[in-house]
Amino acid sequence: MNDHCGLCGAKLTSMDTMLGENKLSDGNILCNKCLEKASNINQELLYSLSDFSIDDIKSLIENGKIDPGTDHQNKITEESQNENLPTVASSGSNIISPDFYKKRRKEIKNQLEQLNANLSMFTKGEIKELPRILFADETILAITDAQFSKTVDAGILVVTQKRIISVSKAMFSLVKVNDFPNETIKEVSFVSHFLSPIIKIHTDEKIVEFECFNDKDDAEKFYSFIKKIYNKEEAKKQLDTVKQVSSDAVLEQLEKLGQLREGGILTEEEFAEQKRKLLGKL
Ligand SMILES: [Zn+2]
Repeated sequence: MNDHCGLCGAKLTSMDTMLGENKLSDGNILCNKCLEKASNINQELLYSLSDFSIDDIKSLIENGKIDPGTDHQNKITEESQNENLPTVASSGSNIISPDFYKKRRKEIKNQLEQLNANLSMFTKGEIKELPRILFADETILAITDAQFSKTVDAGILVVTQKRIISVSKAMFSLVKVNDFPNETIKEVSFVSHFLSPIIKIHTDEKIVEFECFNDKDDAEKFYSFIKKIYNKEEAKKQLDTVKQVSSDAVLEQLEKLGQLREGGILTEEEFAEQKRKLLGKL
C-alpha cells in the first residue's frame, strides 16, 4: 500500500488518509499539503481528483502558472459555493469534421484579427474551442478576457449576432460554455475598477458576473459595445428624455407665438400656420 505522498514523498498521516479522498487515478495518494497546493492552481481537483494521475498533478504544478494573485485566490476558495458558477458544456460543443474545424478556425482567426482582439495568452484553449461552439453562420462581434466571478478559471466572453457566450477551459477539464441568447438578456452593466472591472449580464433568472483581469481598457471597450446592443431600455429612456425636453421647447415657442399674435405682429393665418408646424414636431 501507498503510505507516502506521491508528490512530496512525505509519510501520509491519518489526517491525509482519513477521508480517503486524496487518491489519484493511478493509485498514488496526495498529502493534504500537496492537494492544497495543486487545488490552488486548479480548484477543480477538489471535485474530481480521482480523474487525475500523479503525472497530471506534477505537470499542473510545474506548468500551471495560472495566478491571478494570491489574495484573490484565497477569496475565491472561500466563496466557491455560488449559484452563478459556469456549467460544463454538453450540447454547447458541436461535433464537426476535422476539415470543417480547420476552415472555421481560419475564419474565426480572421474575425479576431479584424476586431483587433486583445486577448491574453491564457485564452488560447478557449479560442481553440470556438469552431465547435459557434454556429457556422455566427460572427464574432466583440470578445474580451473575462472569467466567472469567484472562479479561478480564465475565460472569454464572446458576442455574436445571436448571443453572448462565456467560454472557459481549465487545464485537464472539459470546456465550460454558458450561453446567453439575445432574447434572454434584459440588460448588461459594468462595475469600474482600477484593476479588474466587472461585466454583468442580467437575465430573467439571474445576474451573472464576469471579472476582467487581463486588460481593463479592453473590458471597457467591450462593454461600451454590448451596452448599445442590450441596454435598449436605457437608450429608450434617454430618447424619452430628449422628447420631453423638445416638447417643452415647443410649448414655449407656442406661447411666444401667441404673444406675437396678440401684439399684432403675426396675422391670425400666420399664427395658425406656425402653430401647425410646431405641433407637428411633438
Ligand atoms: Zn505531499
